[in-house]
Amino acid sequence: MAATSHRSVCPYDCPDACGLVVQVDGGRAVAVAGDPEHPFTRGALCPKMNRYQDTVHHPERLTTPLRRTGPKGTGAFAPVSWEEALAQTAERWRGIIARHGAEAILPYSYAGTMGLVQRNAGHAFFHRLGASRLDRTICSPAKDAGWSLVMGKTPAPSPDACAASDLILLWGINAVATNVHGLHAVREAKRKGAQVWLVDTYAHATAPLCDRVVLVKPGTDGALALGILHLLDRLGLCDEAFLAAHVQGAAGLRERILPGYPPERVEALTGVPAATVRELAEAYGRARDPHLRPGNGLSRTATGP
Ligand code: SF4
Repeated sequence: MAATSHRSVCPYDCPDACGLVVQVDGGRAVAVAGDPEHPFTRGALCPKMNRYQDTVHHPERLTTPLRRTGPKGTGAFAPVSWEEALAQTAERWRGIIARHGAEAILPYSYAGTMGLVQRNAGHAFFHRLGASRLDRTICSPAKDAGWSLVMGKTPAPSPDACAASDLILLWGINAVATNVHGLHAVREAKRKGAQVWLVDTYAHATAPLCDRVVLVKPGTDGALALGILHLLDRLGLCDEAFLAAHVQGAAGLRERILPGYPPERVEALTGVPAATVRELAEAYGRARDPHLRPGNGLSRTATGP
């Protein structure tokens, strides 16, 4: 029988939620490709998904529920059928609900898969059951909280917006590995003449795509950011009307913090030559539509934003 083509969505825990075109032959996926008509995927998948047909049919993949047969931590499990697993779970839950009420059950999960349908697929069931509701703060909400504290209600720009930028600043992100679809817009901007700068601690696989690579000592990029602000202020490259209308604390930052970050001190702190700090600040400050793309790592440190 000839393989048939089916549309699907990547099931991995990844916000790109790529559109897939899956070739199925005899009930088995035999090839997986990015959906060329999906506007964000644009026909390209990351290496994690490129050979999904091998992963999904791998002989070591779990295909049945497992029941623990020994003390916790000993790794003793035995396969059981879906019917058995469901019957036992339902029996236990009925007992819990009868004794303590349905709110004694907490569905503990985060995104898992990030397609709009799959991500919240369990909600209807658990809500109907009357289970407790989880504030899903397990992964990235610390970043959201940090963003809100610093940026207020200002939304982050759309990833596609950088296609219109003339200066893109990739800050602490190995986009080739972790943001392959964001790079579509970066490449589009480059084709139209945008400059792309990278700030990171080492020259990773994204570096060859960039016009300039600025390497900082680990943990010092905050000083580089303050050094850039210092120069934007000193060179009169700030949007004063915007600052006056929308930014709290700009005067205090200017008076108390920025004077301490001239390029020479930034060089001593970060290892970035003072001349490069000046070039970066000027490029950013004089760009028509600069686009800053920070990586996720910033939210994984105690002092990250
Ligand atoms: S980038 Fe990779 S993991 Fe993420 S949704 Fe696309 S194919 Fe899946």
